[in-house]
Amino acid sequence: MKTYPMTIDGKSVDTGRTLEIINPALGQPFAAVPVARPQDVDAAVAAARKAFPAWRATSAAERQAMLHALGAALEANMPELMDLITRETGKPLQGLNNVGAGMELGGSIAWTHVTADLPLEPEVIQDNEQARVEVHRKPLGVVASITPWNWPLMIAIWHIIPALRAGNTVVLKPSEYTPVATARFVELAQAVLPPGVLNVVIGGGDIGAALSQHPDINKIVFTGSTRTGKRIMENAAASLKRLTLELGGNDAGIVLPGADVQAIAPKLFGVAFHNNGQTCACLKRLYVHDSQYDAVCTELARLAKEVRVGDGLDPATELGPLQNRAQLDVVSTLAADAAANGGTILSGGKARAGQGYFFEPTIVAGLSNGARLVDEEQFGPILPVIRYSDVEQAIALANDNPNGLGGSVWSSDLALAAEVGKRLECGTVWINEHGAVQPDAPFGGVKQSGIGVEFGHHGLAEFTSIQTVKIMKN
Ligand code: NDP
Repeated sequence: MKTYPMTIDGKSVDTGRTLEIINPALGQPFAAVPVARPQDVDAAVAAARKAFPAWRATSAAERQAMLHALGAALEANMPELMDLITRETGKPLQGLNNVGAGMELGGSIAWTHVTADLPLEPEVIQDNEQARVEVHRKPLGVVASITPWNWPLMIAIWHIIPALRAGNTVVLKPSEYTPVATARFVELAQAVLPPGVLNVVIGGGDIGAALSQHPDINKIVFTGSTRTGKRIMENAAASLKRLTLELGGNDAGIVLPGADVQAIAPKLFGVAFHNNGQTCACLKRLYVHDSQYDAVCTELARLAKEVRVGDGLDPATELGPLQNRAQLDVVSTLAADAAANGGTILSGGKARAGQGYFFEPTIVAGLSNGARLVDEEQFGPILPVIRYSDVEQAIALANDNPNGLGGSVWSSDLALAAEVGKRLECGTVWINEHGAVQPDAPFGGVKQSGIGVEFGHHGLAEFTSIQTVKIMKN
């Protein structure tokens, strides 16, 4: 079994302890990684701190050229990285609607190039005979990036590239479930970046906690659960670290009366089930008007029964396994609770016997707010479809949740759908689409789905502090 490296200050580090990484399609290990000790965290932070002054002093053009070279390295190593992502996450190489390891690599490449090119020029607020007032964006210092297991490489890129573009250095901690492609990328990046600019430490929550408490880290960018996000915020308070937190979602979609059921059903299915529902901005609760409720349920159940579930390395597979056993248990518990409390299971409903962490794609009718499957984030291939009778009620039900990441409205009346959408309490609303993010548009949650945004110039700004420069002229 191959061991992938942990890189600190440009060098592979052997810690004397290794962790085997499980392929969730088989429930068997396929690779190993070193596990960081507390002294490795300190060494990584010290390396990033040492590298910061020289990295900050590089010109924007120099940094941009190196970031484009990272994009080229991702592209040159696509087949290997896709294979590692499929083995460690379980997601198919291509997948339902082409949302798979190929998209994870394609997205990583696109985000790298677009973010590299984002401008970060000073803003001139005033320039007259009295004074010139400029607003400058300065790097923060050392940024710790803590990433989850669902889109490990792409989310690492979302964190790392804007941090580096703004002139910060980085210590990255991937999830211990899925560190392999990330570790390999950081190894490849050493051919492009000066030593210490990008470091990776591999380990569990204790390593994440050590980073969020570390006095020499200036900012944490975190994607993961709301529970862990709150812990990080507590830990970060001691040294007032800056935070970007992209946390859980329980995104609602509303199908307005009169929508074309045949046209939207495959799209609804895709946005709820791609990556097996393990995406923060998947559609997780679907509200459908009385008049079309049965038709939508029937179509979604048909699609759930037809979709091809299997090992992601098989090119025919559309949905893989859950990424880990704990998540399979979450989904199984929510399905059992739904069945026991008035839900009607229209397809699936249980884990698949045999090897791997597979769960049958499941559509549940007959529930409403108050049921666990509706109120809690399932993060798996199970969708509750909820009946409503008037649009005001649907908006109230959609907003009746502590999360506020994304939301969607489905209708052929685009103006009406946009009006309804703007009333949803969420950071992004899509009309006749869901979860489609892009590298130049800000993305982030309101309420308990997070703090701050990623992507575009709004996201880049979060990796900087503002310095106002006022030059008196007389
Ligand atoms: P976590 O929030 O626990 O994990 C995310 C990252 O945080 C991982 O790298 C994890 O390490 C690390 N971590 C764990 N504990 C701490 C800590 N105390 N301080 C700092 N970092 C820590 O997510 P889970 O794996 O528990 O996933 C559970 C739920 O999280 C899902 O059901 C889903 O609701 C949500 N989630 C949301 C994601 C999103 O994209 N918004 C992505 C993944 C999960 P390690 O994994 O090594 O323990």
